[in-house]
Amino acid sequence: MTAVRSLHSEKKRSCVKMNWLLSLAAVCVLVPSVHCASVTGWCYHNTSCSDTKWPTLFPSYCAGSRQSPINIVSASATADSNLTAFTFTNYNSDSALTKIENTGKTVKIALASGITISGGGLPDPYDSLQFHLHWGNGSSVPGSEHTVNSKRYAMELHIVNSKATYNGDTALAVTDSTGLAALGFFIEEMSGDATGQPAKWNLLSSYLSKIVNSGNSTAVASGISLDDLLEGVDRTKYYRYLGSLTTPSCNEAVVWTVFKDTIKVSKDVIDKFSTTVRIADDSSELMVNVFRSVQPTQSVTTQSSCSTSGYSLGLLVLSLVLGGVRDI
Ligand SMILES: [Zn+2]
Repeated sequence: MTAVRSLHSEKKRSCVKMNWLLSLAAVCVLVPSVHCASVTGWCYHNTSCSDTKWPTLFPSYCAGSRQSPINIVSASATADSNLTAFTFTNYNSDSALTKIENTGKTVKIALASGITISGGGLPDPYDSLQFHLHWGNGSSVPGSEHTVNSKRYAMELHIVNSKATYNGDTALAVTDSTGLAALGFFIEEMSGDATGQPAKWNLLSSYLSKIVNSGNSTAVASGISLDDLLEGVDRTKYYRYLGSLTTPSCNEAVVWTVFKDTIKVSKDVIDKFSTTVRIADDSSELMVNVFRSVQPTQSVTTQSSCSTSGYSLGLLVLSLVLGGVRDI
């Protein structure tokens, strides 16, 4: 506890100093261009095609040097004042979700056109195309892809966005080192004994029984917005790094944003994912542990805590001085 406190105050001191340097700092990351390949023949569990084999099976990118997911070490994330708030357009639309599909590897939800993100330190506006999920085996066997300080969460939601100039052509977007922007949200079991919560997550999970087999899909009725599903997350607090698709062919074309706050979902709803959908037909295995192992670390940035803590420190000093003056 003491060690933690002294580390914290040490961090604050270096943070105040860093404030002066922040405006001078510029980060330049050189990344390779990538080419697209259509991919089959990979899996999560069979030893002949699971993630340890991907670098051999798909050497072009899965063996690359900016692969995702990663373990994020929060204390190593450096401050970047360019990581401003996002603008989320039509994330409040009740008719944002159009179709839900069992791909055999995940559950994917297609999004209507006109849903976009910008800001957030991204180089361009991006169109939100789809979201999908990664999970383990029930709430007791976590299955997020990213981990933070080695903690793996129950599930992870990925919203996939493509640079608006590509007009939804992801084959083109993956040839650009920042062509895609992925938003990662951790899902954590809600505390207490609540069931069927949040209501919109319960409603979304009710579609799973209609897409049990790989290839099944069904329309999603209006009534669920992205804002509904992201409830409880402060979207101004996130980690940023340059990485890849987490499935073959692992193209290194993704600007990753991993949000710090978690979405809280009741255990029964989390458990539905690993107990309802299957990887192929009725006789196949349930879809469980659908996440890639963490890859070698990358440099991660985050918001500067300095502006706030520096300001607070300034106020503290000012109030001490004024207090002292009053005492005289
Ligand atoms: Zn994903």
